[in-house]
Amino acid sequence: MFNLRYISFEEDTSYEYLIKTATNKPKKNMDKIFPHYNTLSIQVNDYINKVPTIETIVPLSNTIPKYTIDNIHETLYYLYDSKSDKVKKIKSDIKDLTIKNPLTKNGLVCPYCGISRQSLHDLDHFMPRSKYPEFSILTYNLIFICETCNQDFKKSEFLDTNKHRMFLNPYFDQELSTLQILDCDIEVDDTLLVIEFKVNEDIQNTHGYLYTIADNHLNTLNLADRYEHLVRNDLLDKFFVRFKNIDNKNQRQINILDIKECQSYINERIIELSESSINNFELIFWKKLYDCTDWFKNISGKIL
Ligand SMILES: [Zn+2]
Repeated sequence: MFNLRYISFEEDTSYEYLIKTATNKPKKNMDKIFPHYNTLSIQVNDYINKVPTIETIVPLSNTIPKYTIDNIHETLYYLYDSKSDKVKKIKSDIKDLTIKNPLTKNGLVCPYCGISRQSLHDLDHFMPRSKYPEFSILTYNLIFICETCNQDFKKSEFLDTNKHRMFLNPYFDQELSTLQILDCDIEVDDTLLVIEFKVNEDIQNTHGYLYTIADNHLNTLNLADRYEHLVRNDLLDKFFVRFKNIDNKNQRQINILDIKECQSYINERIIELSESSINNFELIFWKKLYDCTDWFKNISGKIL
């Protein structure tokens, strides 16, 4: 979960380039949408002006007669799949700019979940093109994310039943860089850790609506479970390997632990993550584990 830079949308050139000829005639296959070019421009400007409260945008399908929208819905939807150089450039420019952001580690870390992947290869329509085909090639609306977030969880969701946004927006929700939105509770139960990732309750009073969006984001993208899985299978596994008693070859026995040594290991992880987003789940987990001194005592010398 972190911010990305976005490409300013050249509203005058992109849609115009795709829909109109130089002599103000419809381009090939654009004759249905051509008469509605001005309405489309207003809609696109509405997005740009309303950012970040884009949930208040009324879909084009609600503002123009149904028989008309039925005619142009498909044209707008498939603009995104156009083989034109303009659309190809929009897509590749967004990918390039994302990859250049150090927080994505060369395009391997997803801005929605903050999880490292083998690669990012989905361009998500933040406002889904099935419901808002008018934004199918709007650069503000296209975000380069991981396949898991896009295809397994986000799909074509956008608003909840209360018309609240369901996802944090890496382009426009600037609080992702300035406010700790994600939190992690850890309870020690003997040698076990009860780990729960959730939205930081401290922001509920000061940033009520952001809290709601962030809670939707975590729930819809299944982030609490995905983070806990990674913590248990990757982060804690490395911790156990570091403090394993190497004399006991058959079982995973933990050394007699020195709390300072455990905290020093955790500090190294925190330093490694010092360039990360304030909302990086690994960073938040290690900071919380640092204070779990009872747990270090409880696992000391134990076979786990
Ligand atoms: Zn993701």
